[in-house]
Amino acid sequence: MKLETLSVRIGRDVEPMAGDVAPAIHMSTTFERDSDGEFSRGYSYARADNPGRKALEQCIAALEGGHDATAYSSGSAASLAVFSLLRPGDHVVAPIESYHGTAKQLRDIIGPMGVQYTFVDMTRADAVRAALTPATKLVWIETPSNPMLNVSDIEAITALSHERGAIVCCDNTFATPVWQRPLRFGVDLVMHSSTKYFGGHSDVMGGAIVTREGGTLSERLRDYQGTAGNTPAAFDCWLLRRSLTTLVCRVRAQTENAARIAEFLSTHQGIERVFYPGLASHRGHDIARKQMQGGFGAMLSFCVRGGREEAFAVAGKMKYFTRATSLGGVESLVEHRASIEGPHTVTPQNLLRLSVGLEHADDLIADLDQALASRS
Ligand code: PLP
Repeated sequence: MKLETLSVRIGRDVEPMAGDVAPAIHMSTTFERDSDGEFSRGYSYARADNPGRKALEQCIAALEGGHDATAYSSGSAASLAVFSLLRPGDHVVAPIESYHGTAKQLRDIIGPMGVQYTFVDMTRADAVRAALTPATKLVWIETPSNPMLNVSDIEAITALSHERGAIVCCDNTFATPVWQRPLRFGVDLVMHSSTKYFGGHSDVMGGAIVTREGGTLSERLRDYQGTAGNTPAAFDCWLLRRSLTTLVCRVRAQTENAARIAEFLSTHQGIERVFYPGLASHRGHDIARKQMQGGFGAMLSFCVRGGREEAFAVAGKMKYFTRATSLGGVESLVEHRASIEGPHTVTPQNLLRLSVGLEHADDLIADLDQALASRS
């Protein structure tokens, strides 16, 4: 089945009781036991499993081409679930440049529990190879990365990590399965902040992990999910499952807009650099073309000529890009990343990140043009 069909059909069967075409929301936290103590309808307690979350997980697993998925209350809860697989003495290799919260989890939560970690330039497979030790159990990839849109070679990094016995998890939030399916390149786990494109409307938090195969990893994550209890609420599952039905259309249209904006910015005198993997000038373009099928996503960043003050001034003039964090929604957003990422940021002070939405590209380009007018 194609992605469009999976996104509409998987986990959205007609409800047997009343024939609802749109799925019902199952609010119950507990489910009736049979007279012999069994749970023949498959559910016992909502933290362990519930119909709305199962439907969501089945759909996400299908979209990524995986065996199974576990859903969480946020993307951060999902990354922490992956880190829960580690034990004291284990070692993780992670990108120097990535979503800052993932690095913070390693520094502030996982590190103090006795797990070692090394941050490397993930755009260089040789840097990953050099960082691997006999204790390395996990390699974390985020491509394209947040906020610099760095591209890592999923296949190469996975091959060399597997050679050394480490599993690989890829944060696929920016690309979405519409453009990139990391399981095809051998990774063991795919992670998502569902808050972004899966939700798509800036009104629901969520996260997910997809496993390539059944077996120990999948079983451990399922057990962790039920034990840790950081699961999404019934209504959030329903919102997310509903939003997935339009994922492919939204991401395609947002990506078309982003590609036009990247072209526009790349020739603008007021801009120092544009980071968009779809531009031939992007240093990861060839790898992106190999591993992203048909599009390069709807996120891009650029450095304004000048410094932090000039970047804030440009963002301050934009009318159709709301100044806000997060991404992946139908409305376009602009953000000065360095000022939100904390003391460990490696993001240039003159960088603005755009999450391109569903407004018309002509209007978005006109808006950027007027905001940059005094800078050309
Ligand atoms: N991964 C990426 C690439 C992100 O951009 C984010 C959030 O911005 C996260 C993970 C964390 O997701 P959440 O905010 O849903 O916890």
